[in-house]
Amino acid sequence: MRTLLSLALIFGFSATSFAQYGELTGLKLLKPEDKEDIKSTPAPQGAIVLFDGKNLDKWSKQDGKTAAHWKLVDGGAMQVEKPGNIITKDKFGGAFKLHVEFRVPYVAEGKGQGRGNSGVYVQGRYEVQVLDSYGLESKNNDCGGIYEVAAPLKNVCKAPTVWQSYDIEFTAPKFENGKKTEPARMTVYHNGVKIHDDVKIPVDNTRAGAGGDPATAGPILLQEHGHQVQFRNIWVLPSK
Ligand code: MG
Repeated sequence: MRTLLSLALIFGFSATSFAQYGELTGLKLLKPEDKEDIKSTPAPQGAIVLFDGKNLDKWSKQDGKTAAHWKLVDGGAMQVEKPGNIITKDKFGGAFKLHVEFRVPYVAEGKGQGRGNSGVYVQGRYEVQVLDSYGLESKNNDCGGIYEVAAPLKNVCKAPTVWQSYDIEFTAPKFENGKKTEPARMTVYHNGVKIHDDVKIPVDNTRAGAGGDPATAGPILLQEHGHQVQFRNIWVLPSK
């Protein structure tokens, strides 16, 4: 009896895990290419590689001290693991471009913010949302949204389970004598399509960000929101 129960648990669990990156049963595909992974973009010359699939050496837990606990998985990727966000050991200021590839699981029964939620926080403070927003009319808390600041210009999400990319051109806010003279700015490309055009970010920390002094450099933070989102090929190219 106990064996049967264990088997049921094992098979039940693996069926669930598999389904998250398996068939898209019941999903209405809008275009065939929504099921095609984006081509991975190699780090250009001068870029700082933050994750290439081999290890999490460039990352820590959000305390900045403890080794990062997310899981390395097949395909040169890492997968979100509870509990907690991870951050880069390096901090970034000034202007730079951040490249991130990600995919969200297919959680057919999930709704709204409960489908493949994670996020990429630039300087630990400004979140570009990661979510399964496939086929929706995107709001500022959907995939590609600068969280609660700006909705993407269009929804270019691929289907869940399919690899996507963000290229985020970020300029840190400017301060003079402790007073902010210029807000942070972001231009964002999602799967190669411009979804934010030099958006001024009026806040110093979006929801659930790491905060801190916005006049100082900050890490790249990846959000743990309880969902099995995956990331691969992450690099930063400082502006000249
Ligand atoms: Mg999020």
